[in-house]
Amino acid sequence: MNGGDVNTGDIDADDIDVAGFRARVRAWLDDNDLSPAPGLTFDGQVAQLGRVRRALYDAGWMRYGWPAEVGGLGGPAVLRAVLGEEVATRDLAEPGIYSMIEVLAPTMISYAPPELAAEMVPRLLNGDEQWCQGFSEPGSGSDLASLSTRAEPRGDDWVINGQKVWTSLAQFARRCVLLTRTAPGHAGITAFFLDMDTPGITVRPLRTMHGVDEFAEVFFDDVVVPGDRMLGRPGDGWRLAMDLLPHERSTCFWHRIAHLYSRLDRLAAETGEADDAALGAAYLALHTVRCRSHETQRRLADGARLGPETSVDKVLLATAEQRLFDTARDLLPGVLELDETPWRSEYLYSRAATIYGGTAEIQRNIIARRLLDLGKD
Ligand SMILES: Cc1cc2nc3c(=O)[nH]c(=O)nc-3n(C[C@H](O)[C@H](O)[C@H](O)COP(=O)(O)OP(=O)(O)OC[C@H]3O[C@@H](n4cnc5c(N)ncnc54)[C@H](O)[C@@H]3O)c2cc1C
Repeated sequence: MNGGDVNTGDIDADDIDVAGFRARVRAWLDDNDLSPAPGLTFDGQVAQLGRVRRALYDAGWMRYGWPAEVGGLGGPAVLRAVLGEEVATRDLAEPGIYSMIEVLAPTMISYAPPELAAEMVPRLLNGDEQWCQGFSEPGSGSDLASLSTRAEPRGDDWVINGQKVWTSLAQFARRCVLLTRTAPGHAGITAFFLDMDTPGITVRPLRTMHGVDEFAEVFFDDVVVPGDRMLGRPGDGWRLAMDLLPHERSTCFWHRIAHLYSRLDRLAAETGEADDAALGAAYLALHTVRCRSHETQRRLADGARLGPETSVDKVLLATAEQRLFDTARDLLPGVLELDETPWRSEYLYSRAATIYGGTAEIQRNIIARRLLDLGKD
């Protein structure tokens, strides 16, 4: 057995039975109540995320599906999806911030010097740290390749100047996976793994429409980062950004879909299934993205390199999420508008589904041009 020091029983990660793994996770979660206190603020949700990760890491569950080199216990990545699904279904942690690990840890494993990944990734898995993703800039969101935050060499170091925006969790993050410009064009984008307490970094939280300081503007004034914190080589930043995509659109989505199913169940219970047709349509949209996401994860597990076809997953997810909360608005008349309920904040947050991770328009452009070969217009 891998990792005999954890109390996950006698699971052999190299010969894992996914259904058995799920059953054991469920039994463990039944015995170890990680439920959040009611009515948490966003700060409280971030703290709860750390608590959940710490408990799951100490018990071993958080380590399955990750390689031993970064503190994992091995086994297929689908184990992470199963764990995330159980966490989301039980509402133990906010699914968006829980999923960030799926975006940032694989990137570190692929691009960081191995000793840096070995030192840092366990701190993310075990809940000690939050990290953030510094890609978008004012004027460089959809057109990410136009980013202009500069990194210039100085001896063995690099000096960073510029600004990022919409950086989720920046105000809580100890580290940042940062894209910078070191030369013109796509081949002039270089990534760094930056400590957020480095002098010269200013973080200004931004309030979302649903009323929480979830993301931030981040300013860089002569921020010095050691050369050994570069991810890959100079000019690898665009490739890193493109490699991040499969993670942002596969295991991450699985957690979110599980969360949305739990909300559909809640809606059906609260409305007494009064409108079967509307609930059925919301279910159909969710089931469609779940089937698609299942296929994407299967292909990833088979070693496929994911690409533009994951834009279909993104469009389906955003459609299903907004359909579900539109249905809640219609079936709970006045509740979203007049009451301070979770339905209201979740409805408002669902509007962001067609923006984060690439807007719906951009996904449709990709589908039209790269999958359907419809040309540029
Ligand atoms: C909740 C949330 C969390 C986020 N977290 C992060 C994060 O952690 N890190 C990070 O780096 N970024 C993050 N983002 C930013 C996100 O990636 C960008 O908002 C997104 O890529 C769009 O970029 P933009 O906001 O600059 O909009 P723009 O690119 O300015 O787009 C504005 C509008 O124009 C449309 N448009 C633009 N170009 C075209 C085109 N060629 N054809 C058709 N329509 C077009 C867009 O679809 C959109 O409707 C987050 C965003 C949200 C909402």
